[in-house]
Amino acid sequence: MKYTKEIRFVIERLEAAGHEAYLVGGALRDALLGREANDFDVTTSATPAEMKAVFADEKTVETGLKHGTLTVLVDRTSIEVTTFRVDGEYLDARHPQSVRFTRSLAEDLARRDFTVNAMAYNEKTGLVDLYGGKEDLARGLIRAVGEPALRFREDALRILRAFRFSAKLGFAIEEKTLAAARECREGLRKVSAERVSAELRGILMGKDAHRALALMDACGVLSLVLPEARVDERIASLSACFEMRLAFLLRGVEETALAARLYALRLSNAEADAVKRLVREVSDFVPCESAGEVRRLMAKTGALFEPLLEILAALGVSVDLLRDTSALCRARGDCLTVKELAVDGRDLLALGIKGRAVGETLEALLERVLDDPSLNERETLLSLVK
Ligand code: ATP
Ligand code: MG
Repeated sequence: MKYTKEIRFVIERLEAAGHEAYLVGGALRDALLGREANDFDVTTSATPAEMKAVFADEKTVETGLKHGTLTVLVDRTSIEVTTFRVDGEYLDARHPQSVRFTRSLAEDLARRDFTVNAMAYNEKTGLVDLYGGKEDLARGLIRAVGEPALRFREDALRILRAFRFSAKLGFAIEEKTLAAARECREGLRKVSAERVSAELRGILMGKDAHRALALMDACGVLSLVLPEARVDERIASLSACFEMRLAFLLRGVEETALAARLYALRLSNAEADAVKRLVREVSDFVPCESAGEVRRLMAKTGALFEPLLEILAALGVSVDLLRDTSALCRARGDCLTVKELAVDGRDLLALGIKGRAVGETLEALLERVLDDPSLNERETLLSLVK
């Protein structure tokens, strides 16, 4: 295995100063799987002060220096460099009371969550794999490092991380690890909403979201984090869009309960709005019987039209006609919004229409045009107004 040039730069700099340094965590795991990593972690024997000295001439961000993390920017890649570390006592099922730095790689690897995340690699030493991570990668297994219940009691977020990795990698969860997730699930109540939400997002976006959700359901975890979800294998047919997948799971949930759940998940307003609208459109859906009705639905749902079709299709609704008709309308450039009308507010003002009547008239014209796109000619619309 070869480093990328950015990783090489960081590791070789540390080594040149007499420290140990290894690629660890998700980036190593993903590289061994032949997947692209989304962030890079290097673990090192250098203390925070020593790291700062090594990278004194580079662009760095002191992300979490007291926990031993310095972010080094190499070209456009940011690499998180962290001192070998042992977590102290866990106070609240989430945050270690303190961290202790160590010169031992083995101690650092022992604190990591899963075997596939607890390997280290550098070109000098090769792969350091003290917990059988490579074998678990090959077998497709998420297995806790050490005693799973102990690890989940220390930090309950790890329970959700197990499901996230299962969803993302398509891995099974080892039996004892899964049993411990069930046993320790109440600890999730202490995990912040933001973290739960971030993990749920990762789970829903995973290629194997259904498997993870079914496992979560079976061990009582889903009822703690997304109790309204309807687990359904057809989620697999939906493309990886968070709002769409969430709306699919929450379909049929009544408006107030839905709003409360989306709020609890700390979704952005735009995301929550999209989910609510999708859930409502799915409940309200009645098959379209004319091209005009298809255009009305397109006009009403805007950018959510395609996600809506995907959800309906996943639910077994026949959407071929909707798809063909909407494609035709788009290809022809049919007018779907007031903005696309061949007349605008100024034209109406010129005809002596004032105030609120301007908007209302444009809306009325749009209604006509949605039924019959050929009306969208300036002269035709002006004569309709007159
Ligand atoms: P991703 O691909 O999502 O980035 P990752 O495995 O890199 O996955 P990170 O959250 O980036 O996950 O963390 C990097 C590494 O730090 C992990 O691989 C793991 O070794 C360790 N780690 C992160 N969070 C925890 C935790 N809560 N408990 C134990 N170890 C953790
Ligand atoms: Mg990572």
